[in-house]
Amino acid sequence: VHLVIIGGSDAGISAALRARELDRMAEITLVVGDAYPNFSICGLPFYLSGEIADWRTLAHRTQEEIEAHDIRVLLNTWAEAIDPPAHRVTVRTPDGHRHELAYDRLVVATGAVPIRPSLPGLDDPRVFLLHSMDDSFRLHAFLTEKVPQSAVIVGAGYIGLEMADALTHRGIQVTLIEQAEHVLPTVDPDFGAQLDEYLQSHGVTVMTGSRVRALEKADQGVQVVGEPDWQITADLVLVVVGVAPNTDLAVRAGIVTGVRGAIRVDRQMRTNLPDIWAAGDCVETYHRLLDTNTYLPLGTTAHKQGRVAGENMLGGDRVYEGSLGTQVVKVFDWAVGRTGLKASEARSAGFLPRTARLTTWDHKVYYRGATPLTVSITGDENTGRLLGGQILGHWQGQVAKRLDILATALYHGMTVDGLNDLDLSYTPPLSSPWDPVQMAAQQWMISSHGGNT
Ligand SMILES: Cc1cc2nc3c(=O)[nH]c(=O)nc-3n(C[C@H](O)[C@H](O)[C@H](O)COP(=O)(O)OP(=O)(O)OC[C@H]3O[C@@H](n4cnc5c(N)ncnc54)[C@H](O)[C@@H]3O)c2cc1C
Repeated sequence: VHLVIIGGSDAGISAALRARELDRMAEITLVVGDAYPNFSICGLPFYLSGEIADWRTLAHRTQEEIEAHDIRVLLNTWAEAIDPPAHRVTVRTPDGHRHELAYDRLVVATGAVPIRPSLPGLDDPRVFLLHSMDDSFRLHAFLTEKVPQSAVIVGAGYIGLEMADALTHRGIQVTLIEQAEHVLPTVDPDFGAQLDEYLQSHGVTVMTGSRVRALEKADQGVQVVGEPDWQITADLVLVVVGVAPNTDLAVRAGIVTGVRGAIRVDRQMRTNLPDIWAAGDCVETYHRLLDTNTYLPLGTTAHKQGRVAGENMLGGDRVYEGSLGTQVVKVFDWAVGRTGLKASEARSAGFLPRTARLTTWDHKVYYRGATPLTVSITGDENTGRLLGGQILGHWQGQVAKRLDILATALYHGMTVDGLNDLDLSYTPPLSSPWDPVQMAAQQWMISSHGGNT
């Protein structure tokens, strides 16, 4: 059986490796449009900050390690067309030649492309997007050769925040522009407001409720013009306003798309066409709590979906169990994360959400290094079911571990009360006999008797 996988990042590699685990004999070909198979683009902000000296270390696996699994890797090879009835893919090789690859089964894992807002001036060489390795090399060259002193970052999602940290780390004066009321709109506004202040305490100028209208050439640098009525000149501008599924190839082949133009897949990652699966940032994502498809492009999701596709293309019946939107980001010395639904999202989905919030120490305060940790828990008033949680604290305060307790509980449909029954680990330097997550659950239970927050 000949398996062809288009895309050599998280989803494509996961599909290839799973297929190889299940079938020693299958011919597996990975068609990779760039020269960087299996690179951790999630690590790009840390390369650009200067904290990671050598970009090569960002490889989850080297090309040789992938090939050691007897997977054929075609680098700098662009899939131009899929012919589903003929089971063929037309590819353009690095020397510009075109030829056809026959497949028995195909996975489309073409990922996402950064959104390019329709702003005049976006093509200025001092304006950057950040998604691929090549994007990062361009920005890295500018940072090291031109040594900019000031930067405007448009978009304060998690990549915008990581890059505000990264560029500040390089000694650059950063202005962060966000059209929403607070940075990181994926968390509740009060967490966002704390982050606004925290970023400013680290020298970042935060402009929320602001919209960029145009980028103009200035005598020195780029002038960023926006609403309501402001302009800033900076040596470089980074535009990070989200991603869109990269589906051009799939659409031309007759593959159906859905939410936000992402490829429509069933929970086995099958597309509408026979023998074609799809996974990763190019597809819709089943949301476990909402029981519907959404678009949640994340590396964690792409790995799992790729693995499901890799298994099913060899006759398996693995189901993608769904995302909860679990995500964590480190900004300077803080980490902030969320899982499940925010109260506003839960309300729109027909739940009756209530949120309790608690600030305590990450571990027993008598042991050195204790730091404050805020845990927010949202549960359903009608059923007591846990709907979501958010945590903000020091990045070494085990924010992610605690968020993952909530994610695990959500996966299993637990109640808020049920969190108290979990047998969690404890030693004074790391936690308390009741973990902060359980204290927040108790707070939620108390507030159900009249003390709503
Ligand atoms: C700066 C940054 C930080 C991030 N941080 C995190 C994080 O902390 N946590 C997290 O979970 N996620 C993070 N993400 C998101 C995560 O990186 C993506 O969700 C993940 O890479 C998606 O993997 P993918 O395989 O679906 O697609 P992509 O990584 O987009 O890869 C697509 C692949 O398809 C290839 N391709 C596309 N079209 C063609 C074609 N026609 N022919 C041949 N090849 C083609 C490309 O060359 C590439 O190999 C981050 C992303 C960025 C940019």
